Amino acid sequence: MTSFDELRALDRASIIGTYARLPAWFVRGEGARLWDHEGAEYLDFLTGISVSSVGHCHPQVVAAIREQAGQLIHTSNLFYTEPMIRLADRLRRGSLGGRVFFTNSGAEAVEAALKLARRAKEGGDIVVVHGGFHGRTYGALSATPQESKQAPFAPLVPGFVAIEPTVEALNRAVTERTAAVLLEPVQGESGVHPIPVEVLRAAREACDVHGAALIFDEIQTGLARTGPLWAWHGVGVEPDAMTTAKALGGGLPIGALITGPGFEDVFQPGDHGSTFAGGPVPCAAAHAVLDIVEDPALHTRVAELGERLREGLQELPHVTAVRQRGLMVGFDVEDVAAPELVTRLLEEQRLVANATGPATVRLLPPLVIGEAEVDGALERIAAALG
Ligand SMILES: *Cc1c(COP(=O)(O)O)cnc(C)c1O
Repeated sequence: MTSFDELRALDRASIIGTYARLPAWFVRGEGARLWDHEGAEYLDFLTGISVSSVGHCHPQVVAAIREQAGQLIHTSNLFYTEPMIRLADRLRRGSLGGRVFFTNSGAEAVEAALKLARRAKEGGDIVVVHGGFHGRTYGALSATPQESKQAPFAPLVPGFVAIEPTVEALNRAVTERTAAVLLEPVQGESGVHPIPVEVLRAAREACDVHGAALIFDEIQTGLARTGPLWAWHGVGVEPDAMTTAKALGGGLPIGALITGPGFEDVFQPGDHGSTFAGGPVPCAAAHAVLDIVEDPALHTRVAELGERLREGLQELPHVTAVRQRGLMVGFDVEDVAAPELVTRLLEEQRLVANATGPATVRLLPPLVIGEAEVDGALERIAAALG
């Protein structure tokens, strides 16, 4: 039997140290619960960063993966496969009505969106906003205006313009030279900051006036995380294209760029590609996920439970602000460091959460929880805050 100390030493020796891991070794998951190597049970309010939105090892997801894995795992995009094509049809019908390009991750979906925008308007600028996060690959990183993430990797991809997410800044930045405006409707990695609806509307208008593409990054906000299937459904501002990933595969790696009709013919054969993308197994898992998250009753539940979580958090000592859309929740704390609080929650309260900054904790619970889990999490956070 490997001990935790041995595994940690092996991790240090073998894995390039880009992650400062939290002190837990998980071996099993079911619904909103995780178990560590010693059998201790945890309540998971992070879901692998909004990935396991339908809960861990959802029986429908497990069955879909098992069945497809026993039938066909991979053939590449050189041939037709039905799970992928039917998934694309489902995604476009549930969103923008254009067409879909599949990827294996969120950052790759963003790369596809950036290439699409440049293909549609050669040499055009991409306008992005401060506090945004779009991934770690070069294009996605260039769209993520954070000094600490970008500076060590300069020079970045040229042609990105970073602005504050305000109506005035948008109206100044978007011109005839703009190929796209890229935004998260609710910024996730920066600590759950919703972009004001008037800013989203201004972006829509500016893009219409100057012939630019409005692209929403719904990698974290999508698939009912904020209540409605897509966050833009909730604010009534429709983009020209959007990205999805994280929760789509129920834990398997899959992402997608979804276009509206205006951008469905931009890419030509040979313009873009991916060996793995759209594989039958992740697509089968995604069908099972959509069966669950497309349900309007779930959307209502997510909204209700999110309110309950927000109201509970607002009552707690040391909590200075709560930002919430559905079950995407960030809260700020004072007199206690968020990373310390998160470690205390994990080790003493067995609640999984994460710190997005020195004073901000983020909660992304499974969408299939009930009142008992929300109240249980609130009790644990209250206890950890002392
Ligand atoms: C997580 C995330 C990404 C990057 O996705 P990866 O799968 O980690 O590449 C991009 N955009 C947003 C909004 C995200 O939350």
